[in-house]
Amino acid sequence: MTIFSDFPLHKSILQAIHDMGFEEPSPIQAACIPKVLDGGDLIGQAQTGTGKTAAFGIPLVEKVSSANRVQAIVLTPTRELAIQVAGELLRISKYNKVRTLPIYGGQSIGHQIRALRQGVQIVVGTPGRVMDHLRRKTLKLDHVHTLVLDEADEMLDMGFIEDIETIITQMPEERQTLLFSATMPPEIKRLATRYMKQPQTIAVSREEVTAPLIEQVYYKVFDRNKVESLCRILDSEDVELGIIFCRTKRGVDELTEVLQSRGYLADGLHGDLSQAQRDKVMNAFREGSIEFLIATDVAARGIDVGNVSHVINYDIPQDSESYVHRIGRTGRAGRKGIAMTLVTPREVRQMMFIQKQTKAQVLSRNVPSLEEVAE
Ligand code: ADP
Ligand code: MG
Repeated sequence: MTIFSDFPLHKSILQAIHDMGFEEPSPIQAACIPKVLDGGDLIGQAQTGTGKTAAFGIPLVEKVSSANRVQAIVLTPTRELAIQVAGELLRISKYNKVRTLPIYGGQSIGHQIRALRQGVQIVVGTPGRVMDHLRRKTLKLDHVHTLVLDEADEMLDMGFIEDIETIITQMPEERQTLLFSATMPPEIKRLATRYMKQPQTIAVSREEVTAPLIEQVYYKVFDRNKVESLCRILDSEDVELGIIFCRTKRGVDELTEVLQSRGYLADGLHGDLSQAQRDKVMNAFREGSIEFLIATDVAARGIDVGNVSHVINYDIPQDSESYVHRIGRTGRAGRKGIAMTLVTPREVRQMMFIQKQTKAQVLSRNVPSLEEVAE
């Protein structure tokens, strides 16, 4: 067994890790931390919820000095994720003089410019806003020795490839590049060949991580009473926090309204909301003052809320990658979770296909009857 103190880390960092309640490194962390400290380029592939953030975050904090310039940059696909990753870096550097700043769209740029001026060692940002700062020359990358592409598959999915390439060209070639991703589609491999130097790949297989923690079931439902079916399922379950996925923003709005009118503590999250609204919803969800978060794929990417007990695919995901990402919102950090998918008759084949692709066992269940719900 590996323990954190096996790695050549400062006492201050070990203490911070201890304060975070991490007892031992997860498999991806055990494999990545020494390699990142060694300095080579690295690709880390592991399912969501396996601790990839700390796998790069811990060695990153170890490696930056207190010198007053940006030495490392982490690119993430969404604002929420930028905030989350910066938060984790902040906890890791609790006893160090390392300043981390999240920069993302939707927040006042003036505020970010002032913070950058005061001196920051690590920037965590979304590609769009980072580009914005580069154009304004309020962020300089010429002293960056480490670049992290976090949730790289999602960044590519969201069309950030050109921004990422532009950002990379503004960095010294002499640098360490780390890429983390839950999946490894061909575009990622291409990106790696182009911008990384003989990267080592560390992959923790799906079987090792998801299978025992996330129970997967599906319900056959009819379009005309899908809402009713959903409510019966929710009522018969012991939900701590649940994320309900819809295909479209409009779908999110409509379902949010219906669930609220039926008295559920629910709120919606999608890209058309202002940053302030999104923050408010996420905070309410984290605190548990809303029980159900209704979201689109994009809005829920990478979100890490510890006690999500249920992920419900109200609309079946388009493909198996989206399925894997969605269900990865539960069963995090060793907790158990359940993923449920509502399947209409014409979607049954899609469910079978997802099952085959992910090699998961998804059991069929019947929607509870009214009597069962009343029990
Ligand atoms: P990923 O990026 O792989 O989806 P995260 O880095 O978001 O996963 O980690 C998922 C959760 O697991 C976070 O809440 C994180 O704090 C927790 N975690 C990470 N590493 C450990 C560890 N070694 N021990 C306990 N919890 C951990
Ligand atoms: Mg992550």
